[in-house]
Order: sequence, then C-alpha cells, then structure tokens
Amino acid sequence: MHHLNDAQLLKNFSYINGSWHSSASDIAVNNPATGKLVAKVSNAGIAETELAVKAAKGAFKAWAAKSANERATLLRKWFDLMMANQEDLGRILTLEQGKPLAEAKGEIAYGAAFIEWFSEEGKRVYGDTIPAPAGDKRIVVIKQPIGVVAAITPWNFPNAMIARKAAAALASGCTFVVRPATQTPLSALAMAELAERAGIPAGVFNVVVGDDARGMGKVLTEHKDVAKFTFTGSTAVGKLLISQCAATVKKVSMELGGNAPFIVFDDANIDDAVAGALVSKYRNAGQTCVCTNRILVQEGVLAEFTEKFVAAVKDLSLGDGLTEGVTIGPMISAQAVSEVKKLIDASINQGAKLALGDDETTLGASFLVPSVLTGVTNDMPIANNEIFGPVSPIISFKEESEAIAIANDTEFGLASYFYSRDIGRIWRVAEGLEFGMVGINEGLISNAAAPFGGMKQSGNGREGSKYGLDDYLEIKYLCMGGLDK
Ligand code: NAP
Repeated sequence: MHHLNDAQLLKNFSYINGSWHSSASDIAVNNPATGKLVAKVSNAGIAETELAVKAAKGAFKAWAAKSANERATLLRKWFDLMMANQEDLGRILTLEQGKPLAEAKGEIAYGAAFIEWFSEEGKRVYGDTIPAPAGDKRIVVIKQPIGVVAAITPWNFPNAMIARKAAAALASGCTFVVRPATQTPLSALAMAELAERAGIPAGVFNVVVGDDARGMGKVLTEHKDVAKFTFTGSTAVGKLLISQCAATVKKVSMELGGNAPFIVFDDANIDDAVAGALVSKYRNAGQTCVCTNRILVQEGVLAEFTEKFVAAVKDLSLGDGLTEGVTIGPMISAQAVSEVKKLIDASINQGAKLALGDDETTLGASFLVPSVLTGVTNDMPIANNEIFGPVSPIISFKEESEAIAIANDTEFGLASYFYSRDIGRIWRVAEGLEFGMVGINEGLISNAAAPFGGMKQSGNGREGSKYGLDDYLEIKYLCMGGLDK
C-alpha cells in the first residue's frame, strides 16, 4: 500500500538483541499530511527498554574487542544498504514525518554520510605519549569505548538524528540503544532492519519504540549499565534528562533547541542572502533546530531584501510531501500549527505586520501557509521563542554592533548565519556571535565532516567530524614507572 520496493523495510516491532519484539498494545503512526494511518507499531515500555540495555551490555565486550577495521567493514555495509534503499527509506520518512520526498531522500543520504564518515574515522582513534617529569617514567594515553550508549531522538529528522549518534558510537566500539520519537518510529526500525542485513551483531544496535517517554527515559538515563546518554530534542526535556543522569554521573551529550539569527548586512549579495534565508528557514517546514529563527536586516537593504524574500517565499509550493513539485510539507501536527499561530498573533498584537501568510489553506489542519512578519523586535514572542514552523520574523538594525547584540540576546547558541562581503566584518561578526555554528554567506551548514553542536542552553558535545568520536571515548592515562630497573 505504500509502494515500497522492499516491503520488509516497514517494521512493526522493537528491535532488541537481534530480534523483533511484540508487545501487548500498539502505537498508531499517522501521516501528518493526510491524518491517515501509515502503520501500527508494538508499544514497548520499561521492561523492553531494560531488556535492550541488557542486550547492549551483553554485546559490548565482543564489539569493543573487534578491530576498528572490522567495525568499519560492517558500518560500510550498513551505509551501502541505506544508500541502496534510499528511495524506500525516503518514502517511509515522508509518510511518517511529512517532509517532501526529495528532502526525505536528502536526509537519508545525510544520515548515511555519518555512518560512512565514522566508519573511516574510527580507524583514527589515536592515543598519545607525553614526556614524563621523571626519567624512569613514561606517560601513555589510550582511548577506549565508553560502554553502553543510550539515546533519545526527536521526530524532525527520524533517520539522521539516530545515524549521527549511532555511527560515532558504533565506530568507537560502543553498543547502542535508541528510543525514537513516538510519532516517527518507522525510520528507526528500517535502520535496524538494514543494520541486521549488514551483519551488525545482535545487541549492538537496539531500537525500542513506545509512548511511555518518561518511564523509558528514566531507564535510559538512570540505568547503572548505561555509560553515556545522548539526547536530541528540546532544551526543557534536555534539562530534565541531564538531572536524571546525575545520580550515576553519566557522560551526557545534548543537542537542544536553537534560535538562529540570520543577519543581512548592507554589503551582502542580496540575492544570495535571499536564497540562503529561504533554505535555512523553510526546509522541513521550519522544523529544524538550525532553522533561521530571526532575520536581522541592515536598514539600507531592508526594502530590497524584504521584497525579494517575500517573492521567493510566495513561490514555495505547499502540499503533501509525496506530491510531485511540492517544496514544503505539513507541520508534524495540527497542534504544532496552532502553537506557531499563537506566536504570530501575539506578535501582531505587539505591532508586527504580516507581510505574507494570512491565506487560509484547504490542505488540512497540519498545514501552515509559509509566512513573513515585518516590523518585529527582539522582545516579541515570535523572536524570543524557538518558532519551529514556517514563519520568518524580520527585524531591522542600523549598526554592526547592534546586530551582534540582538543576535546574542537569547539563551540559545546553536546555529547562526550572516551575509557580508567585507573581510574585516566577517571576522569580527564570526568571532562575536555566541553560537556553536556560523554560516557565512551560506544557509546550509551541516555535514558529516563538520562539528555540529551548540553553546549556552543549546547543549554540549559535538556530532560529526573528528570531534564527534570524543563523546563516545574514555581517555585512559597509563603511568609506566620503574623503567630504570
Ligand atoms: P522533545 O519534546 O524534547 O522530544 C524529543 C524526544 O524526547 C522525543 O523522543 C520525546 O518522546 C522525548 N521525550 C519527551 N519528554 C520526555 C521525558 N520526560 N523523558 C524522556 N524522553 C522524553 O522535542 P521535540 O519537540 O520532539 O523536538 C524538537 C526539539 O528538538 C526542538 O527544540 C529542536 O530544536 C530540537 N532539536 C535539536 C537538534 C540539535 O541537534 N540541536 C536537532 C533536532 C531537533 P515522544 O516522542 O514520546 O514525545
């Protein structure tokens, strides 16, 4: 019914210790574009989560003992299978998440790229030797896999948020348990099916699907056999999970919310800035953590930028992600639409103007017409909240220092962007922005080779790049003494 080339990729059970587990009740996975049922998935809970941790613990020694080359060969097979099944995986992703098929296939390639990258990077987990303070001693540093890794991931990138973590964990020699978001478990389960086909041993990669976020989350954050916890999601939930990890002093990585500024200076190439803002804001219907949240435009180019940007946003084609030509899909749910509408209305009440987007759509309650608000100030709700929807607030500024101050005036510090052709300004602004990632004349910044992560309340740790392995490794110092005897 879903036109998959390989129907076996649509799975309905949690994947624990190399087998598929059914539970007493089911979760319905619905298509956000149509509201129709895509699949039912067995609803696992605390017991299955404990089982998955046990399986990961049981598999750890043997997986860690494999050479980096052996792990790389298996990970490479997993990557190859994901790419060979990109069309089906993309279709499953669109069905459960809503993004246009081309974007969904892009996410599969993006997620797979992390598996490819870390399969190679795992071979370069170098240690160190350090000159010792005494002649009869030697200092040697080795790095070892930390152990069982537990992960909780969100619905906005149902494949890539798992791949980014699992790839680094497995390449380092760790075993892995993930609880995907309740709304989007199918992409995670399809990854498990392909991991099995790739020959990744039982217990190394486990997926537990269930709607008891709190209960399952407690197991994953509090279990004594989990050595490391990694989360991608909202800052509010991240804070709670950090506190739950405290009792067992787990190493944690947090990829949390953002409030990205996108600054357009007078000297920018305006057409490039419009294209960059469009992709950075409206990709995934504005539901990415690195989405532009506030567009700051210098007064001299405000009219030109706004006119061109509104025209470009008008050209987006809203609809079901499986329909040919659609460039922007539904939001995840009708409730998500009404949350964003509240931010728009509250900001209009405070003086913002709707330059685009007041048209009603007949597509359904989970669709929001791409919108642009002008005359916004940084204290309005649309600017000081993470919007997570297809709305662009435009804020004007006079001076460079004012732009940096407005940009940094948020508790978040994930992604930021600015457009300028002035080399001095580029350095000043890049160094002045308090964000983990800065796109300079570029609106799409994430790839497997680069360190992804945030400052301030956007989290800690980095995913991707050579730095991404550190989160899954322990540094061990060997002090060798008595060498003069
Ligand atoms: P969320 O509400 O924090 O949910 C994320 C995950 O946490 C889901 O799996 C959810 O399960 C689970 N969860 C919720 N409450 C929990 C609890 N008390 N204990 C354990 N687990 C719990 O976030 P979201 O709204 O789905 O996702 C959007 C957020 O993620 C945004 O803030 C976005 O910026 C952030 N994000 C960050 C990055 C990054 O790399 N920095 C990337 C993508 C998204 P259920 O599905 O069952 O609710």
